[in-house]
Amino acid sequence: MDAQSAPLAAKPQASHFLVEWLLMLGGLLLLGGVLVISLYDEHRGIDARERERLGAQARVVHDNLARQLEAVNRALASIRDDLPRWRAEAGGMTRASHRLRAFADAMPGVRTMSVLDADGRVVAASRAELLDGNFRDRPYFQAVVRKPDADTFYVSPPFRTSLGVWAINVVRMLPGAQGEFAGIVSATLDPEEFAILLESVRYAADMRVGLNHDDGSIFLTAPPREDLYGKNLDQPGSFFSRHAASGRDANVFVGTMLSTGEERMAALRTIHPPGLRMDKPLMVAASRDRDAQFAAWKRQAWFSGGLFGLLALAGCGGLALLQRRRRAAELEAARVEAALREKSAEIDRFFAVSLDLLSIADFEGRFVKLNPAWQQTLGYPLAELEGRRFVELVHPDDREATLAAAAALAAGERVVDFTNRYRAADGGYRYIEWHSVSVPEAGLLYGAARDVTEQRLTQDRLRELNDRLLAQAELLHAQAYVDGLTSVANRRRFDEALAAEWRRCRREGLPLALLMIDIDHFKRFNDRYGHQAGDEALKAVAAALKAELGRPYDLVARYGGEEFVCLLPDSDLAGAVVVGEALRAAVEGLGIAHDASSVAAVVTVSVGAAVRVPDGDGDPERLLAAADAALYAAKQGGRNRVCSAEAPVAAAAGS
Ligand code: GH3
Ligand code: MG
Ligand code: MG
Repeated sequence: MDAQSAPLAAKPQASHFLVEWLLMLGGLLLLGGVLVISLYDEHRGIDARERERLGAQARVVHDNLARQLEAVNRALASIRDDLPRWRAEAGGMTRASHRLRAFADAMPGVRTMSVLDADGRVVAASRAELLDGNFRDRPYFQAVVRKPDADTFYVSPPFRTSLGVWAINVVRMLPGAQGEFAGIVSATLDPEEFAILLESVRYAADMRVGLNHDDGSIFLTAPPREDLYGKNLDQPGSFFSRHAASGRDANVFVGTMLSTGEERMAALRTIHPPGLRMDKPLMVAASRDRDAQFAAWKRQAWFSGGLFGLLALAGCGGLALLQRRRRAAELEAARVEAALREKSAEIDRFFAVSLDLLSIADFEGRFVKLNPAWQQTLGYPLAELEGRRFVELVHPDDREATLAAAAALAAGERVVDFTNRYRAADGGYRYIEWHSVSVPEAGLLYGAARDVTEQRLTQDRLRELNDRLLAQAELLHAQAYVDGLTSVANRRRFDEALAAEWRRCRREGLPLALLMIDIDHFKRFNDRYGHQAGDEALKAVAAALKAELGRPYDLVARYGGEEFVCLLPDSDLAGAVVVGEALRAAVEGLGIAHDASSVAAVVTVSVGAAVRVPDGDGDPERLLAAADAALYAAKQGGRNRVCSAEAPVAAAAGS
């Protein structure tokens, strides 16, 4: 990993990650808030429903008991009203007892009924064993004695009966003739009967329904709680006290129950039926355990909380994992990118630094990318070259070959080498030597080229120089065998020809003839006409000699000064003399004025002819010497004539 690229890549990602975390936390907070609010709502809903339901159950008990108390009251009142009649009749009290039994049997909540006289003696009873018993000390009797009132429905505090069960008595006073206290008629209510009623309104296992007396004592609960019976609730802070103090008929309280120390919700309701003047009311309390009320809610809350926790954990964990993976992937991508960038930069550096001309072109023949060497070579800015069709810059003569090479590359030929000329910015052309490859997958041509103009020019110059040297060599060669003044063969050429012809004629057994020609009185000519004119005369004589010699293998050469030689292969002496004569006549025929000559008025020559058949012993010098001797003879003989080595030849016609 590149130390510089890593933080660069990580920075924008960090803020990105933070935003994701904030979104995640926001989402979780929102969800948590919704969850808490809904749980709180539900809690309140449960609380409200429980209050209502407990209150409703308390009212059911109230309504039932009220009706039952009213029925008992009516029974007691009817006994009270019938008593004077029964008292007046014989056996009337027995009938009274029968009536009491009938009532007690008919009314399910009534255990016993009895009539007590003013002294507390039982005078009539639903059960025979009670008759004649005296209960004047019993609180229910004393309550009436203390506050006698014919219209009051007395409700005694709970007490434990002789049978061991808890009971309460309801009593009406018996008025005397003047309305004074004359005893009581009483009904003992059997709490067991009410237990069924209380049990029937319970709707939950933890629910408890109880009946209290106004003095605060509990005398019945469902389910039965014997330990609570007789307990006095009339204590400060108790639900009972708060209910009594509220002055209302119905209350719902939540808190700690004084009797048990439990945390409960309790609906309390005072029982006093409207048609009944009770001295002490009864009270019904329906309560439920607070924990049990909310057990389902708590389970739900735990479940939801747990689910939320799991969700949060999974969300955060998932996000962290995702981010870690993404960071790793991004770092890897950044690393690869940096490596690629470095590679690309490396290639670019090579591209820029290359002295060779590097180019990329598309199959349409346009330059896509060029290196700076192009600018240096052709002089155009790169921007002007890139995107341009390269053929536009190619020399018209090279265009066809260039397009053919490009087409070959595009057609799949991998490598093509060729050279063409490119127009430079200065108007000149540069020779570019190409080595190109095609990459058909990319539709591109890659070219490495080289400016070979200098080499080309050097090559051309060398070739030219070579040609010149060759020409010069040829010239020199020619000059070596040609006489500079007269342009006939020179002395060297003659020497070589003489040696060669000598050998050839010896090989073939042929004669070799030689003419030696000397201008007559040429010294005088020079003296008379000047050296320049002498040279001109020499040239004219040479030309005449050359023109006169018909056979291509006859050779005329300047032997030196104003002396010429003629080599006549395969010619006998007579023939040579004929040729010599023709030459002499030709020179004379030139008519070059020569005032100073003693021989003629024009320039003339003397000719010495000699011939030899070369043999093993002889050499060319002997032939030369013979010709020279013949020439000497011609000079001696009066000039302007031909002499042969054998005998002097007749003088020319003019001499
Ligand atoms: P002869 O008839 O006996 O041959 O008389 P001549 O004067 O020709 O005799 P000689 O051989 O003594 O003189 C040769 C002269 O030819 C000398 C020189 O002035 C002249 N000569 C030789 N070579 C050249 C040359 O190349 N150009 C000119 N203009 N004159 C030449
Ligand atoms: Mg001479
Ligand atoms: Mg001469």
